[in-house]
Amino acid sequence: MRGPPRGSGPHPPAMPPHPWTRYLRRALAAAAAAACAAALPAVAGVTMTDPDGNPIRWDLDIEQANVVQGEVTWFLDPRGVTEEPLGDVTEQDALYAAFAAWESLPGGQIRFQEETDRRATERNAKDRVNFISWRKFVLGPFTLAATFSASENGVLTDADVVMNDQERFVHWATTTPGTGGHADVQAVLTHEVGHLCGLDHSPVAGATMSYYIRVGSISGRTLEGDDASSYLDAYPPGLDTEHGSIVGTLRVGRRRTARGIPVFALDPATLEPAGCSFTDDTGLFRITGLAPGPYLVAAAPLADTGPYSTWWSASPARLEAAFLGAADPEAEDGVPAEVIVRAGVPVVAGEASLRKARRRGRRDPDGDPEHARGILLGAGAGGAFERALDEDWFRFHVDGTGPLEIRVIAWGIGSAADADLAVFDGAGEEVLAASFDQRPALDVANANGDAGVDPDPLLTSFDPPAPGDYLVRVRAQPQSGYGSPGAFYLLRIRPLGPP
Ligand SMILES: [Zn+2]
Repeated sequence: MRGPPRGSGPHPPAMPPHPWTRYLRRALAAAAAAACAAALPAVAGVTMTDPDGNPIRWDLDIEQANVVQGEVTWFLDPRGVTEEPLGDVTEQDALYAAFAAWESLPGGQIRFQEETDRRATERNAKDRVNFISWRKFVLGPFTLAATFSASENGVLTDADVVMNDQERFVHWATTTPGTGGHADVQAVLTHEVGHLCGLDHSPVAGATMSYYIRVGSISGRTLEGDDASSYLDAYPPGLDTEHGSIVGTLRVGRRRTARGIPVFALDPATLEPAGCSFTDDTGLFRITGLAPGPYLVAAAPLADTGPYSTWWSASPARLEAAFLGAADPEAEDGVPAEVIVRAGVPVVAGEASLRKARRRGRRDPDGDPEHARGILLGAGAGGAFERALDEDWFRFHVDGTGPLEIRVIAWGIGSAADADLAVFDGAGEEVLAASFDQRPALDVANANGDAGVDPDPLLTSFDPPAPGDYLVRVRAQPQSGYGSPGAFYLLRIRPLGPP
């Protein structure tokens, strides 16, 4: 179980309640290798936007009361937290560390300084004091913290951070490793400083800017590739010789408007997201701040528009998750294309059309070994859980006995699906290998350590006993989400090269 969702809260404008819409199902990657228009989307990375879709950020070149000599100022309320956090580190030092994490990103532009002249006693969207405080009665029980931002014409003018000071709801700690049942001050502040910079939540679950932060985890103290990617997009270095970007266009069926679809640049070996962006109104996306090298690109529905700027609520929900770039648009489950990123120039991922999720009837077309979907070695396939303990079966063929890697990514790209994975013999009877969670929450080293929990399953080296047909079962664990738009996954089976 993912534990109760612990967000670190909405930033204004307050998010309206959103309906949970339908489900999605299997995916397809129908991609044409057509060249993409040279146009770039207005919004990239995952930055906060105003109601018209304009990104909002600090203008470091224009002096205002809280931007002094190009540095964004902040003021920590000296009243502190009512219940002293567990651990030896002060809230102030945790805050310094949170700012330092963003300042130390390679190519990062923002510098911060403590406000020494202008004080404030309460949050105020108009006083241009970036006020950071612990407060009771501002935030609900499931919200650890929230950043309240104000902007004019796309330029941030004020950002106040409120940390939840109700002991009934939140206990705080600064210990390393983290302490179970206690939210980590530095991790949560690092997230809020991301909002203070103008970044929105990220669907990448392992990112510091993810909406969900596991209480007891300190993994949010360090920034992930995805955090850096959005940040570098919002504040691009003048001449960036270290990073490149991927651009492309997505459509949903024949629809041109496809705003708010998350697109991920994935490490081809680990499928870890290195960057994420949302498509704009015309389906364009741009993922920036990527280290040179190969990537796979995948798209998925936005499981829940609630945690994001309201602009993204037009995101289509009934959509199949897919790797992009299968050469044959008719192929059901294609081999994802590698995109090679080079420093300095955007590389075009091409144009892809995503499938709308089909509504499934009572029948489950791939719910048993007899009806398993075929998947090629090296290929990826999308799927989704529609019911509790849902099972999806895949069949693959091997000509040899070399080791295979079988991987599911779901949680990592913002899905509520929690899958387990098992390989069966060709008759679907004998289990040859199985995997539950890569980094289980039951292991304290994950739950409270740097790396964090990763509930996506992985079989690192499956050695087929003989050439022939095998079956893979992807199954919803008892606590998995299902039915909603959020319970999608991507499966990939690939031969491992010689070590
Ligand atoms: Zn947040």
